[in-house]
Amino acid sequence: MTRLLLIGPPGAGKGTQAVRLSEAYGIPAISTGDIFRSNVRNQTELGTLAKGYIDAGDNVPDELTNALVRDRLAEDDAQHGFLLDGYPRTTDQVRALDAFLASHDTALDAVVELVADPEETVARLRKRASEQGRSDDNDDVVRHRLEVYARETAPLIDVYEGRSGLVKIDGLGTVDEVTDRIISALTGHGIAVPVR
Ligand code: ADP
Repeated sequence: MTRLLLIGPPGAGKGTQAVRLSEAYGIPAISTGDIFRSNVRNQTELGTLAKGYIDAGDNVPDELTNALVRDRLAEDDAQHGFLLDGYPRTTDQVRALDAFLASHDTALDAVVELVADPEETVARLRKRASEQGRSDDNDDVVRHRLEVYARETAPLIDVYEGRSGLVKIDGLGTVDEVTDRIISALTGHGIAVPVR
């Protein structure tokens, strides 16, 4: 039973690490960005509502996002732990997650902060833009996403730091190096990789 959050600026490599940690710990990686993008692709009602915000680099409104995560965390596969990637992103989302966890008599085991230099993250997002063509990876939108991160999300790091259980990880290096760093830091916090 491992419940983790992954927090860090756009381009820090959260999505990449989330997939690996999900495998290592045997828990689902729940990425709000991925869920929104798949809803946009499938032209669902949620996708239609979210698309404008995503393309502009703005946060999707908290109400929508909180409802989405609440539903996702209620699914069977999340009952034995989960890794949230890209959520919470605002103080309102922290409140909603706290309320959800409290009402299920549970708590987070750790919050992993991926620390990355803004120049490096912008370079990574540029590369991703040319490889994947994500609608929100062009320069203007990336700049805006970084501003939104600094204003809305970066303050959450202090919130979690104040509660203990925040694990700061240097996000520079190869994908494997970063994964190893996260796993050894979590092991140091008493969160072991299950033997399977
Ligand atoms: P990144 O971390 O690289 O910005 P994400 O895939 O996490 O990419 O998010 C892409 C977009 O999806 C965000 O810019 C935002 O519009 C929307 N989004 C994702 N997660 C949330 C969230 N928790 N709250 C509000 N909007 C979100």
